[in-house]
Amino acid sequence: MDFSSIESVLGLASTALGATGKAVSTVEAVRKLLASEKKSGNSEAQTLLNTLATELTAANMMNVQLSEAIKALSRELKKQDDFENEKARYELFQTDQHDIVFRLRGDQANGQPMHFICPVCLNADRLISFISGEGDFKVCQKSSHHTFRFNKTGYARAGRASTDWAV
Ligand SMILES: [Zn+2]
Repeated sequence: MDFSSIESVLGLASTALGATGKAVSTVEAVRKLLASEKKSGNSEAQTLLNTLATELTAANMMNVQLSEAIKALSRELKKQDDFENEKARYELFQTDQHDIVFRLRGDQANGQPMHFICPVCLNADRLISFISGEGDFKVCQKSSHHTFRFNKTGYARAGRASTDWAV
């Protein structure tokens, strides 16, 4: 959860509320002026109305900003939710060569073929990246530095690589 973006939205919200509050008190001042017995001419009312217009514009702009920030935050939260849901579909898996990767859970396949994903990308970048390859190693599709040893056929390449899913 990105607390700094929540903080900035809350900051915007209180500023917007402050601006609205300022406009409200100007409205009150205009009302009082109009209700007062002393008709001091229209100039004072006019000044107040101009102030009010400016304050309303400012409040309006802040509301737009606030609404955009809230939408962005909401999108961000949804993205995190989606990621957590996606991540929950995988389980830790130890290869025959004792490498640790993540494997799609059988009961979470939803019609997808069985596959493995890169634990480095998942943990560091919150990214679901497939690892693929038919030899002894599978390689992350995002970074070729993320390699995982599944088998040890060594130089006996004639033998069929046993990359069958151990399901
Ligand atoms: Zn990776």
